[in-house]
Amino acid sequence: MTSETRRAQSQDAFQYRIAFGCWINDMRNSALPLQQWPAPQCDEHTVEGVLRTLDVISEAGYQFLDTFGLYATGEYPPDIVSAFQDEERNRNLDTLFRAAEDRGIRISLPLGLMTWGYDRIIAEDPTVRGVDGEGNPHAHAMCGAKEKSWSYVEKLIDTMFARHSFGAVHLESADLGYCMCPECTGQYGVVGYNARLNARAADYIKSKHPDVVVYTCPISWAPFTVDENGRQPKLSGDDRDHIIELSRHIDIFMDQGHRGRLLAWEDVPQLECAYGTSGGLWVYHGSRQDRLSYFLPYPLRAANHLKDHHAHGTRACLYYQGPMVNPAVEINSAVAGYMMCDPGRDPREALEEAIEVHYRPHSAEVRQRLADVFLSVEEAYFGQWREESFNEQQNLEMPGEFIMGNLFGTQPDAATFLAEPYLEAPERAVFSAGIKAALAELATLSGQAEDGGRIERMTRALAVMHHLLTTVMMARGEAWC
Ligand SMILES: [Zn+2]
Repeated sequence: MTSETRRAQSQDAFQYRIAFGCWINDMRNSALPLQQWPAPQCDEHTVEGVLRTLDVISEAGYQFLDTFGLYATGEYPPDIVSAFQDEERNRNLDTLFRAAEDRGIRISLPLGLMTWGYDRIIAEDPTVRGVDGEGNPHAHAMCGAKEKSWSYVEKLIDTMFARHSFGAVHLESADLGYCMCPECTGQYGVVGYNARLNARAADYIKSKHPDVVVYTCPISWAPFTVDENGRQPKLSGDDRDHIIELSRHIDIFMDQGHRGRLLAWEDVPQLECAYGTSGGLWVYHGSRQDRLSYFLPYPLRAANHLKDHHAHGTRACLYYQGPMVNPAVEINSAVAGYMMCDPGRDPREALEEAIEVHYRPHSAEVRQRLADVFLSVEEAYFGQWREESFNEQQNLEMPGEFIMGNLFGTQPDAATFLAEPYLEAPERAVFSAGIKAALAELATLSGQAEDGGRIERMTRALAVMHHLLTTVMMARGEAWC
């Protein structure tokens, strides 16, 4: 696999550095306040958001961009090909593929495997519809034991590759559930069934496109809920063996870690493919939130998680992106990319390089003070999270995937990230003080960088976030002024 990027890599660089969209409008720089998730459109604002992301990730040394929602979200038509005939969409997507190529970034083919994409097909062709745990027709999944289900999947793969030269394929078989009939999970168990689906799909793709990187994202192969030790149980026994067998067919087992990972670190060396994560912590940016209504930087955590995962044998990362107009998103993505290229790097040095690149500060002192603002807000927010709060209130590990609003909905979401289990009353007061200190510092830095308006956007995002925070505090009867 070629990894020629604009950024030099150390010899222990992550082998696979993949930016994850994750849905195409999550990278959009203007909000869609009433849009149900996932947003299906591909308009000029979608294109602008992806282009901006491509700029950031190519500079930061990523190799791939993986984004769902290129041609459809939940509903490919039974003939598959008519999803590819929208002229405006095709024009916009062709622009994106060309822009990616110009920047040395390969696009990854997003493939829901038996789920995500087949709702219309199972409605119009019930012979391929799977069943749920009660034996009722499944809401989203095809039955993997039916050869006709595979004909839809293979036609989708072939149609995608006929249109574009994808560099990778993202396989995801269980996010919306899976067929639980006696021939599917009834015969092989949840992990065994999903592993078999992924191995077969990977074999099909590799038989036609041997150089394409194929990776499996095992979301929902096991519940996220924690055991008595407050941890998501790791796979063992037959389930672990199914993963090891799957690793002979794919290039990366992408154990993202939404709320804990599936494999124990000590089992990683048994894999015959690369092991990947999503870098330990990420904000999931739905498309309804105003892009400058929050400022949640985590460059230090990004760097330290990637170092830790690398030390445990992780060699691939599927790193979540977001609306790059938000200055925290941009820095999170840039620093993560730098660290993947050189995991031995000092995190602070990587952060200052990202600030140098994107802010062009007038002096080293300005660069250092801007870095301090990022780190101080990171600490004032994420530094106050407590594992026990997530264990007790959600029966989950600390995120992993930090969904700062809601996934589903048709209105701008509440600022849930300022309430429990993320922050409680004492932490809200500390966060308020941290935001105000950052705002005061930014006021003195204005005009001291060729920053393309970033300091102004940071200021707005911090100020709006403080409005939301004090509104939560006021409503809870906490001292807020
Ligand atoms: Zn089935």
